[in-house]
Amino acid sequence: MKLQNKSAIVTGAASGIGKAIAELLAREGAAVAIADLNLDAARATAEEIERAGGRALPIAMDVTNEQAVDEATDKVAEAFGGIDILISNAGIQIVNPIEKYSFADWKKMQAIHVDGAFLTTRAALRHMYKDTKRGGTVIYMGSVHSHEASPLKSAYVTAKHGLLGLARVLAKEGGERNVRSHVICPGFVRTPLVDKQIPEQAKELGISEEEVIRRVMLGGTVDGVFTTVDDVAQTALFLCAYPSNALTGQSFVVSHGWFMQ
Ligand code: NAD
Repeated sequence: MKLQNKSAIVTGAASGIGKAIAELLAREGAAVAIADLNLDAARATAEEIERAGGRALPIAMDVTNEQAVDEATDKVAEAFGGIDILISNAGIQIVNPIEKYSFADWKKMQAIHVDGAFLTTRAALRHMYKDTKRGGTVIYMGSVHSHEASPLKSAYVTAKHGLLGLARVLAKEGGERNVRSHVICPGFVRTPLVDKQIPEQAKELGISEEEVIRRVMLGGTVDGVFTTVDDVAQTALFLCAYPSNALTGQSFVVSHGWFMQ
């Protein structure tokens, strides 16, 4: 097991990519906090992990709420005896062309993706920096849209580009204290977040749902294949288990060649 005696917080861990990462980290020996807005779903995920022999703690957390993030993070640190890994993953998608994009939706997107990344990082660092020998790893869930743009996704593309900046600053500030940071940048992964977009994009672009999948989502890949939650989880595991600062401040694109850097 690669993460024995480690503890992790995964935000948005009740569904999709976050859930797959939480399950894999737990299988590799980490104690994992399932932090999510949806406490019932977080409880169900934690129960599945415990049934499989892992250690998990469901915890209610709205990543846009400063007090909720600080309190939940402190609770996890107390329960697990510190925090070694933060996976800042919670996210949503709202698609619309810029001229129709409401300011309220724009602010909601920045609050969840950017404010959420900042708040969870700050709360976790207060624990990671207590023991510089122990250090830690922070991983942000970016996207191919951290590097590439698509129509209808102004708020998402802006927010996901912003995570690269935060990760690079953290790499520089955290280096001496043995804290590393990375951004994982997946292509399209079939989760509830993507399934919701298929009919929305078909309507907005005036094409069929099948065309949205084939042309918009997979048209740029080398093989027309969706990235899977396991592809992303395995990348997160590799980075969490990596033993030195040789890898820090990097972005890892997991996208079947949709974007090559
Ligand atoms: P998902 O909808 O399956 O899961 C998102 C989870 O985040 C849900 O459990 C939801 O309750 C939680 N969440 C939403 N708002 C929250 C908040 N304010 N506080 C705490 N939790 C909150 O989505 P997913 O596809 O697994 O996406 C996870 C991350 O991966 C997101 O950041 C997304 O942008 C990113 N991503 C997804 C894809 C994809 O194709 N699915 C591709 C690239 C990046």
